[in-house]
Amino acid sequence: MRKIRLYAPGPTEVPPQALLAMAQPILHHRTPQFQAILAEVAEGLGYLFQTKSPVITLAGVSTAAMEASVSNFLSPGDTAICIRGGKFGERWAEICTAYGVKSVNIDPEWGSAASPEDLEKALKANPDAKAVYATLVETSTGVLSDIEAFGRIVAKTDAILVVDAVSSIGAVELLTDTWNVDVVAAGSQKAVMLPPGLGFASVSDKAWALTKSAGCPRYYLDLAKAHKSMEKNSTPFTAPVSLIIGLRETLAMVREEGMEALLARHRKLAEACRAGVEAMGLTVFSKAPAPNLTAVSVPDGIDGDKFVKTLRDEYSLTIAGGQAQLKGKIFRISHMGYADQIDVLTVLGAVELVLSKMGYKGSGGASAAAKVLAG
Ligand SMILES: *Cc1c(COP(=O)(O)O)cnc(C)c1O
Repeated sequence: MRKIRLYAPGPTEVPPQALLAMAQPILHHRTPQFQAILAEVAEGLGYLFQTKSPVITLAGVSTAAMEASVSNFLSPGDTAICIRGGKFGERWAEICTAYGVKSVNIDPEWGSAASPEDLEKALKANPDAKAVYATLVETSTGVLSDIEAFGRIVAKTDAILVVDAVSSIGAVELLTDTWNVDVVAAGSQKAVMLPPGLGFASVSDKAWALTKSAGCPRYYLDLAKAHKSMEKNSTPFTAPVSLIIGLRETLAMVREEGMEALLARHRKLAEACRAGVEAMGLTVFSKAPAPNLTAVSVPDGIDGDKFVKTLRDEYSLTIAGGQAQLKGKIFRISHMGYADQIDVLTVLGAVELVLSKMGYKGSGGASAAAKVLAG
């Protein structure tokens, strides 16, 4: 018997409502029925992204939305400021480089967030920067950035602020319009509670203006073309109909719960998870821990890779290990999207079970978390 449990920071578990909706017979994409679904989804995305700007849906994983967020706004030879400090921050700089955009990098230590002062300095030193690329939650380190502060700084310049909210949209506060975030790039398989395959990009007026002069090549990921279709409740190419029908379900769940309750739920789960790991004598890796996942340092004497593999192979429970320089050094527990209090207790219990089989002495994680959840 194998009961599959997914507690990695993407892909995450998909609620049964969405699974069932996606199992329906295929609807043709050029029909009034599907147009009505696209209209409904466009409105739901506006709520999820907290924006009045259009949110473009792309058939492609989140990196498609990230790539579109470079190629649609910049030209080869332009300068962009990329805040790195983790695997996904690095991806911004890699995409810029691939398009011949010069990336000026801000490099906080992995596990720490860049400070607003760091950004202010970089913008002063590079007044020609056309865009700032940041990450709301750097999923590789579990670090939350102060996007509100970044927004205040970037809004005073001609540059646009582009934020990777791939794992955080639907789990972490992001007031796109109020905070002056011009572009939010995201995807379907994290807190949006769907399988992988959709990318999203919200685009402000300031960012749309840049698309007119942007000289980077683009075809499939042309946001202006997608927007033109979107205004007619259509898509430029065949729409990923099943995923969009699933999206209608998860967006309805977000509406029903309400943004405030949804954000409070994630904060509470994160607080409980941190209390649990700390009660076990473990250390939270991130200095600015995020509400959607918890990165934990692997304790001395434990083989971090073997620990994650044992959970997966013997208990069919998936958490994530560390990436790149953090391989074997941290493990990451997701509590985003379709995640509740019992999930946090379950994963902490499983962590304790395997760690104690590997000789680790700390215990009491799930009960410490239960105390937080009960309080
Ligand atoms: C998962 C993730 C990505 C990449 O998502 P893909 O769908 O694999 O392209 C990018 N940024 C962050 C912060 C992520 O968590």
